[in-house]
Amino acid sequence: MPELPEVETVRAGLASKIIGSRVVDISISDARSLKRHVLGPKHFVDELLGQSFLAVVRRGKFLWLPLSDSRALVGHLGMSGQMLLRDKGHDPDPQTRVVISVESQSGQLLEVRFVDQRIFGSLAIEDLVPTSDRAPGGFSPESPVSSSIPSVVAHIARDLLDANFNIDSVATKMQARASGIKRVLLDQNLLSGIGNIYADESLWLARLHYDQPANSITREKLTELIVIATGVLERAVIQGGTSFDEQYKNVNGESGYFSQSLNAYGQAGKPCPRCGTEIKRIAWANRGSHFCSTCQRLAT
Ligand SMILES: [Zn+2]
Repeated sequence: MPELPEVETVRAGLASKIIGSRVVDISISDARSLKRHVLGPKHFVDELLGQSFLAVVRRGKFLWLPLSDSRALVGHLGMSGQMLLRDKGHDPDPQTRVVISVESQSGQLLEVRFVDQRIFGSLAIEDLVPTSDRAPGGFSPESPVSSSIPSVVAHIARDLLDANFNIDSVATKMQARASGIKRVLLDQNLLSGIGNIYADESLWLARLHYDQPANSITREKLTELIVIATGVLERAVIQGGTSFDEQYKNVNGESGYFSQSLNAYGQAGKPCPRCGTEIKRIAWANRGSHFCSTCQRLAT
C-alpha cells in the first residue's frame, strides 16, 4: 500500500507537468474505478471536462487536484492504483481504467492514466471544506493552496512533511495513548502518511519495540521518534519511494529504490545492520512487524 513517500513521488511528478492544464477529454474503460464518485461516470465527465487543475496537493497518503475553491479531483490509490503521465499517443498501459487527457499551458497534450490492477483505488470529484486549523490544506510547494480540503480527507491529521505539522502537540497526544507505539504511529487521525514500511523502519532506528505502550515512553524519546520518522520519509521521497511489491510506480511507470535502504521492513532472516541479530517478522494486526529482538526490547 502506498505510504507518504510513494504518494509524494506521484504528486511531485504530476505537479511538474499538469498544473494549469485543462481537461480536454475523458475516457472510461472501467467504471469500477469511479465507484467513489457516487453520482456516476456521466456526472464525473460532465464535472471534469473543461476544468483546469489549479494545484496537486497531498496530505498523508491522500492526493487531490483542486479545480476551484470548492471542488477537487481526488485520487485514491488504494493498494495498487497508479497515476501515469504519458504523452498523447504513448503505447497503451495494461489495466488502464480511466484516461484524463489534458492540454498544458504550453499546448502540450498529455494523458493522466489511472492504472489499477486490483481496483481498490478510484477517482472521484469531491467537495472541498475549510480546514479545521484554517491553514493550507496540504503539501503543495509548487503552487499556493487554499485552506480547504476534500471532505473525505478532512479527518486525516497533518503529516510529518507538512509545514503546519505541530510536533509538540502531536508528541503530547502520543504520550496520552496507552496502546503500542506502532499502533499510535499508524493512527492517521493523529499524524498521517506512515504505514507499515516506514513505521517499522522508524522504530528500528529509534530502538523502540512495536508494542511499547506510548505512555511509557518519555516525551523526549517520542519527539526523537517523530524527528527520526520525518527523516525516513524525507530520504524515501528522495529515492522515489519503496516498490516492495512492484505495485507502486511513479508517473513515468518507474519503481522507487528506497527498498535498497531498508534496515528492518522485509528483512526477516537477515542480520540486523546494527548488531547482527536476525531480524524477525511477527504477525501483527493482519500484517507483520519487522524488528530486531536485541536492539528493540520491550522495556518494563
Ligand atoms: Zn539489532
